[in-house]
Amino acid sequence: MPEFPEVETVRRQLNETISGYTVGELWFDAVSVLRPNPEKISVELTGKKILSVDRKGKWIVINFEDTTSCLVIHLKLTGRLFVKRIDEKQAPYTHVILGLARNTICSFSENNCDTTLQFSTMRKFGYLEVMKKAELMEKFSNLGPDFYEDVTLNMFADALASRKIAIKTLLMNQDILSGIGNIYANDALWMAKIDPQTKAHSLDKGQREGLFTALKEVLAEGLALGGASDQWFLNVFGEKGGYQNHFKVYGKKGTPCTRCGNEIKYTKIAGRGTYYCSSCQHNL
Ligand SMILES: [Zn+2]
Repeated sequence: MPEFPEVETVRRQLNETISGYTVGELWFDAVSVLRPNPEKISVELTGKKILSVDRKGKWIVINFEDTTSCLVIHLKLTGRLFVKRIDEKQAPYTHVILGLARNTICSFSENNCDTTLQFSTMRKFGYLEVMKKAELMEKFSNLGPDFYEDVTLNMFADALASRKIAIKTLLMNQDILSGIGNIYANDALWMAKIDPQTKAHSLDKGQREGLFTALKEVLAEGLALGGASDQWFLNVFGEKGGYQNHFKVYGKKGTPCTRCGNEIKYTKIAGRGTYYCSSCQHNL
């Protein structure tokens, strides 16, 4: 599932490529990925000019001029967003195409769309949802602060202080901290030499600081490399990211730890695949 580096890569590219465009015709062949329904999206957004593209945790939020509505997108496991002309080859599993034009409300029959926003998803867990700004506030009222953008060392220490769950489980809980998922949690814990099973509240000051720094570093590295494309992720231009070539332990079961040479182990914590070095990642 895309995490901060992947979603932020898409957000930045969308903000640069579709801001200023006006929404035209909406085509779809899967009703379930358009919420609450396709008609509502068309009624609310047709003719509206895109103002900017934001991000809330792992969600993308498209803002429009002259409306209190916005379009919220979650990619989930197999979702991809592409910006491409209508005459370019479609990606497999493309289920939504939103026509966009500079100075008109375009339609596919008139062939006057300057570009399109296309959503593909094999498993159809991802979605596009139109909602009012007030509903958006409500939807995200339980979302934890964005780790990369907003969380300070003091906030991080407070988040860990009273929680007796495995540190790895805490890092991936979007209600506590948002933006971190399985790949970057695994790798940051290795960088900080912390056993993923360690209870969050039991980390000492040095471990907390080391983990905080490792998380900021690994998310920055993932973003600089355009995300991780070990599975589905592609950016809006259809290109792969590069972080999958820089995994520290994620996906490396059975290979030597690059720090100490011992074999990387694999287990599950809270149902999620966990990679770690039992030699150089310590519990207390
Ligand atoms: Zn090691």
